[in-house]
Amino acid sequence: MGQFLDNDIKFVAGVGEARAKLLDKELGIATMRDMLYCFPFRYIDRTKIYSIGEIDENLGTSFVQFRARVTGIGFAGSGSKRRFSVFVSDGTGSAELIWFRGIKWIEKRIEVGREYLVFGRPSFWRGELSMVHPEVENIEKALARKAESGLQGIYSTTEKLSGSLGTKGFYNIICNLWNIAANRIEETLPEQLMKRYGLMPLREALRNIHFPQSPELLRQAQYRLKFEELLGIQLNIQSHRTQRMARRNGFLFPKVGEMFNSFYNTKLPFPLTGAQKRVVKEIRQDTISGYQMNRLLQGDVGSGKTVVALLSMLLAVDNGYQACMMAPTEILARQHFATVSRMVEGLDIRVAILTGASKSKERKASLAGAADGEVNILIGTHALIEDKVRFANLGFVVIDEQHRFGVEQRARMWTKNLQPPHILVMTATPIPRTLAMTLYGDLDVSVIDELPPLRRPIRTVHYYDSARLRLFGFMRQEIAKGRQVYVVYPLIKESETMDYKDLTDGFEAISRDFPLPDYKVTVCHGQMKPEDKEESMRQFKDGEADILVATSVIEVGVDVPNATVMVIESAERFGLSQLHQLRGRVGRGGEQSYCILMSGEKLSKEARMRLEAMCETNDGFRLAELDLKLRGAGDINGTLQSGAAFDLKIANPTLDTQILQLSQQTAIELLADDPSLAKPENAGLQELKRRYSGERQRDFSMIS
Ligand code: ADP
Ligand code: MG
Repeated sequence: MGQFLDNDIKFVAGVGEARAKLLDKELGIATMRDMLYCFPFRYIDRTKIYSIGEIDENLGTSFVQFRARVTGIGFAGSGSKRRFSVFVSDGTGSAELIWFRGIKWIEKRIEVGREYLVFGRPSFWRGELSMVHPEVENIEKALARKAESGLQGIYSTTEKLSGSLGTKGFYNIICNLWNIAANRIEETLPEQLMKRYGLMPLREALRNIHFPQSPELLRQAQYRLKFEELLGIQLNIQSHRTQRMARRNGFLFPKVGEMFNSFYNTKLPFPLTGAQKRVVKEIRQDTISGYQMNRLLQGDVGSGKTVVALLSMLLAVDNGYQACMMAPTEILARQHFATVSRMVEGLDIRVAILTGASKSKERKASLAGAADGEVNILIGTHALIEDKVRFANLGFVVIDEQHRFGVEQRARMWTKNLQPPHILVMTATPIPRTLAMTLYGDLDVSVIDELPPLRRPIRTVHYYDSARLRLFGFMRQEIAKGRQVYVVYPLIKESETMDYKDLTDGFEAISRDFPLPDYKVTVCHGQMKPEDKEESMRQFKDGEADILVATSVIEVGVDVPNATVMVIESAERFGLSQLHQLRGRVGRGGEQSYCILMSGEKLSKEARMRLEAMCETNDGFRLAELDLKLRGAGDINGTLQSGAAFDLKIANPTLDTQILQLSQQTAIELLADDPSLAKPENAGLQELKRRYSGERQRDFSMIS
């Protein structure tokens, strides 16, 4: 603390109390440093001035500027619908500039007959160019403004703030901040390190990231800042790793005993695949190593992760420890409980369940059993991490479908013991192995890269809504063969009543076309009571219902091998990984299974590509790669970060792999030389490390 940049952002000219609050709320910007580390997501060349005739739809939605003369103004609408239009032309064409807000202000500044420089995002309506809320500047003034390189940053942030702080306002604050802060920026990296890798000093870098002096200097600035960011994270990851390795306090499971063996030899309903065997071996190695295990298990949907988890938990039980397994949803927890209970039937093992919906009797029994050691395996939801849940000797924790869990929740399992249990995190979201290791650093990675035998690839087709009759016909055929069908509706937010309306309408339509007594249709969604949901799922699981109409709550992990058809409604609204997850609900028995993607006729280019990709391949890994390509860099970060809990501002771990590796190697070397970064030349690094050990990151490293 105590650096100038730690000062509240409100003290910067142009901010003040109200805007400071807004900046904090919308963008998490509280201090001057936060603001200075809010980087442009794009740059535009402000030396380029278009003529109106040159601006067409091929330019997409990027910002452009042109100079033009005002030919007239006009008002339309009233009240909140009121709009102000300024008509301009430059001899090559004409355009309409539109304002819905701040009309008075802009009206005063516009003079018919004068020439202006107009800057904004073009849009087209019936071939006519228009711009909503552009920046408009007197041409003389604009030309007098000296831009150092012509490159001006565009801050993505302004969208969220639009109305109270536009592109220009945000930029002005950055300028004002720079004026007072430029000379107070303290370097984070040691001189020697910067020399060795040819890194730009921090001050230069911050200056060029906001006000590029040239494209080359901008590139260097970006490189430096990415490196700094990834190094900050790696310093935390690596120092925790060192500490963990120094502790050697992992529970030991030397015995492969009664439970494991009799399950393996007499209960296991199928031979393990080679990949499953390999992963069980890896886990076994970890649990006799003396170190605490921290393993990420990746395996495509249907690859058989559950049985690997069960075998590992039996290993724990054989060695006198308890195990628990945490699932992301109530339904999934109940299902795991049912599967595991069934599989270990006849063995001397007590399995219990605890979820938010547990009735008080179940709750009491599970809590007591966990605390006194009577319960060997406890399965549940988030409820497992509540403080009330105590274990006698928890030795092994399985976390299923990790992407649904926050890192903090994982970390809290750690505090259930004095000694940390072994942790196995299972996910179907494939992240390339090298990336996962560098990013999670302290997590070892296992991969199940082989599906159980006799799986026929699922056939995927895309139908437009108009083909619904054909769809129903096909569903009838499959049901006549004794199979079952899922019909899934998108649910973007639990609160969106519109989505529920789609689902209930759909449910009614299907019930009409598939009437009792020949058919039984059941429904399951988030607004139902837990016991109704459960009953509905039970009916489907037990084959009493032919069709399950559901929201994407079934997405994760549900296992009904007799279901062979997955119908996804409004498939264009789902992301690729979600579609793939949903598809993985079928094709679990030996029968040919189908996934039918329903959509409207009108599709964006990207939605169409997603649906095509789904029809083309069943390979989750390929789909994940494609997903990364289809989505913007920001989105990729978002996805990875939700798993990794890193709030990255500039680096993109999927693209900046080389910098990522360099930062990792650097962190290892620095810590080897100076484990607590106590040397004077490392003072900046210590500060950097602290900055990246924030709440979320700290929790993350706790599990390591
Ligand atoms: P996921 O990895 O998606 O969690 P599951 O563990 O639910 O997959 O397994 C999917 C299905 O495959 C289950 O019905 C399971 O019983 C079955 N299964 C798992 N391993 C094998 C195997 N080695 N041979 C045959 N079937 C298997
Ligand atoms: Mg699963």
